[in-house]
Amino acid sequence: MTTNRAVQIFKHGGVEVLQLNQIPVPTPGPGEVLIKTAYAGVNYVDVYYRTGLYPIALPFNLGSEGAGIVESVGAGVTKFKPGDHVVHMSTGAYADFIAVPQKIVAHVPEDFSLEVAAAILVQGLTALTMLRESYEVKKGDTILVHAAAGGTGLILVQLAKALGATVIATASSQEKLDIAKAHGADYLVNYSHGEEQWVNEVLAHTKDGEGVEAVYDGVGKATFDGGLKVLKRKGTFVSFGNASGAVDPFKINRLGEKNIKLLRPRVFAYVYTQEEFEYYSNELFKYVKAGQLKVNIHKTYALEDLSQAHRDIEGRGTTGKLVIKL
Ligand code: NDP
Repeated sequence: MTTNRAVQIFKHGGVEVLQLNQIPVPTPGPGEVLIKTAYAGVNYVDVYYRTGLYPIALPFNLGSEGAGIVESVGAGVTKFKPGDHVVHMSTGAYADFIAVPQKIVAHVPEDFSLEVAAAILVQGLTALTMLRESYEVKKGDTILVHAAAGGTGLILVQLAKALGATVIATASSQEKLDIAKAHGADYLVNYSHGEEQWVNEVLAHTKDGEGVEAVYDGVGKATFDGGLKVLKRKGTFVSFGNASGAVDPFKINRLGEKNIKLLRPRVFAYVYTQEEFEYYSNELFKYVKAGQLKVNIHKTYALEDLSQAHRDIEGRGTTGKLVIKL
């Protein structure tokens, strides 16, 4: 009998709520592709689903992206066939088999390994769509990227450099800042010495101390106030995550002090249609092929060690991407 291991949660909590269970192999419905997973990517959002920060219906099959080989296809699927190498961004990805709507599945380019494909999709699409649509980075801009040595952070740094921006990178240690620099960051700021210090350091790296054109912030609660302070007049605040906790409610009047634009984007709403998903996936793969985007895999874990991967990413001990091998 074919087995299908899947990571499920039945309640919210710490890593102890992660369960590795056997579930039936799904049958692909109309428009769906059944994928045999080779690798799945670890994303911070999996932590939010586990802890309950993002509301979900329980039980919930965890995981947000994976790469593997098409096993079979449902009615009406013409773009994919058994044997194709594909990558997807669906929840439930920590499973040997997953049925995924074809609109969020892409072919893996010939020269990519499945491991690299699983490492790049969600964080890469997040970074790319935010740099194009949340605030369209232009040559000559100076932007701030928080947690710049993290998975999404390292991609933001590299793509922003490819777009011609000057990048100020923050992280919590010199070792992490060195990694951000090796991926192209221009200025490095350790934000673990308190808000006043990092705010002053960031401003000192901007023209006439006026501030940055845009802040890309996946840290959330701990950096929100400081981010408003380092923005230039008419700057854009892209708040896209909560690694330190959700941003506290605040009075929108504060934006008027400098006419700041504030966005709270999620990648799924930028790559919602098949056309959007295909367009941005192809753009992302082009950056990798052109050598402008290096995929930095921190560690590849066995599925049985997923709880360790969660502990590692929550414990701030990782840089780049964590991958699970199935
Ligand atoms: P990362 O690899 O970036 O890991 C999170 C990083 O956040 C850590 O390495 C750490 O870097 C930093 N951090 C700051 N404060 C804390 C804290 N209190 N606890 C833990 N980490 C902290 O993860 P991802 O690349 O997967 O995700 C980064 C952010 O982007 C997350 O907030 C995630 O939710 C968000 N995201 C949002 C998406 C969207 O659609 N809106 C899609 C994908 C990601 P350091 O030690 O340097 O501070």
